[in-house]
Amino acid sequence: MVKLACPVCLNEVDLPDEIKEGDTLQCPYCYAEFRLVKQEGEWAASL
Ligand SMILES: [Zn+2]
Repeated sequence: MVKLACPVCLNEVDLPDEIKEGDTLQCPYCYAEFRLVKQEGEWAASL
């Protein structure tokens, strides 16, 4: 399971297996929405 730190609250969020670049995800902790981008092979969150 891939995890990513939420850019707003910094909690670790589990990413679904079938994510792709540009998908929007909602943080289950703070409900912020962010977009997934791939940077140098690693997933990163973009607000
Ligand atoms: Zn959050």
